[in-house]
Amino acid sequence: MGSTPPRQFTITIIGGGIGGLTLATGLLRRNIPVQIYEAASSFSEIGLGLSIGPAAHRCMPLIDPKIREIYDSLVTTHADSPGYEAYRQTWFEVVWASGKKEGDLLMDLKAAPSGQTTVRRADFLDALISLVPREIVHFGKRLDCLVERDGEGVMVKFEDGSEIVADVVIGCDGIKSRVKESLFPGEVGMMPRYSGMYGYRAVFDMEDMVAAVGDQRARVSTMYVGNGAYGISYPIMRAQKVNVGVYVLSEKWDCETWVRKAKREDMLRDTDHMGRYVKALIERMPDPSQWAIFEHPHLSTFAKSRVAILGDAAHASTPHQGAGAGQAIEDAHVLSELIGDSRVQSAEDVMVAFKAYDEIRRPRSQRVVTSSKENAYLLCLCMDGVGDDEESLKNTFQQRLHWLWDLDVQGQVEQAREKMIAYLEY
Ligand SMILES: Cc1cc2nc3c(=O)[nH]c(=O)nc-3n(C[C@H](O)[C@H](O)[C@H](O)COP(=O)(O)OP(=O)(O)OC[C@H]3O[C@@H](n4cnc5c(N)ncnc54)[C@H](O)[C@@H]3O)c2cc1C
Repeated sequence: MGSTPPRQFTITIIGGGIGGLTLATGLLRRNIPVQIYEAASSFSEIGLGLSIGPAAHRCMPLIDPKIREIYDSLVTTHADSPGYEAYRQTWFEVVWASGKKEGDLLMDLKAAPSGQTTVRRADFLDALISLVPREIVHFGKRLDCLVERDGEGVMVKFEDGSEIVADVVIGCDGIKSRVKESLFPGEVGMMPRYSGMYGYRAVFDMEDMVAAVGDQRARVSTMYVGNGAYGISYPIMRAQKVNVGVYVLSEKWDCETWVRKAKREDMLRDTDHMGRYVKALIERMPDPSQWAIFEHPHLSTFAKSRVAILGDAAHASTPHQGAGAGQAIEDAHVLSELIGDSRVQSAEDVMVAFKAYDEIRRPRSQRVVTSSKENAYLLCLCMDGVGDDEESLKNTFQQRLHWLWDLDVQGQVEQAREKMIAYLEY
């Protein structure tokens, strides 16, 4: 990156997940001083898989080529299974899980040119952290709240009783964001809400998966579409393991916690109308716990004064489109380009960058929240006007994904930059 004059501000990032770490990497590459405060004492997340779509994949090298190198070095594709090279551009095969065609292929959904690419989330995080100097990451620091000090920065208070004063703060602290709570003090309707679905999740060894559903279904990423429920599986870890989920529509979630213990009978009852493949997966699920799927209501802004929010802190969506992490990466790209712009010199300029970021990123990321939820209805064969009609399903899948994937990622940056320059000059 070209040399820029030293900036008169430091960016404080709360949360070192995929959003926080990609943002930090992008800012550091543009010579912006950064400090990260992460609640966990180290990264030891459970190893569930993550699938990243083409738009976020195209963003990665623009944030920092090393992010893409890391992702591509960890990634599992269909070509990792010998004999399945022909599926290199397949995103998912979609298979009927109920009705007369149960077990048949509905469509081969392509995602050119990358096809399905998946990583084990913990591996990706471990590798991302290596891009950030150790001395700027503060583990074991859980944010309690933020207090704005009149024109003098933001007081950042941690649960351990420590405090710092920050010039500007970017909240990357996930769906239960404390930064977001501080942006909307006392306002109702800002908290994540139950989306109307819960799921069963597991990671299977490939041999067990092959024994359950056969070689093709185990090795090619598959969505099983059925009445009121759907299943999903995709290979991770160079096709040694398979990430599996089965999601069920259910209006109410009458439990305080987001994961609740359940019995094997509950799981079997939820899926008793599903076909052989989903049944085979459910029979082998090691744990019948039910995971409620929450999402964010649409917020009126992602930025106020010296504070902005990014990724799940701003727009957590359901997983039914595999787009949440991708949205955090798109946000990180736009924000690091704006703040890295040589015209942004002071904390006040960063506040202007926040305004432009909000105006460009909020409509798209909130539309993703809505469309991800709608996707659940598509997968459960109950979307209005589509139902279980084969042709409508095929067309709707294609249209929805092309909208998500065909984004001009640099175009979003330039639109936001244009707005930011206009506000800076005003
Ligand atoms: C079942 C499921 C499957 C999914 N599958 C996919 C998929 O295939 N593809 C995809 O793109 N997305 C997927 N997602 C969504 C994706 O996981 C998220 O969108 C993504 O992780 C968001 O990244 P983030 O950095 O914004 O938040 P997070 O990953 O939640 O990171 C937040 C970080 O902030 C830290 N933190 C939290 N609170 C505090 C605090 N008070 N103080 C300091 N630090 C704090 C946390 O420890 C964490 O490190 C899925 C989600 C679910 C639930």
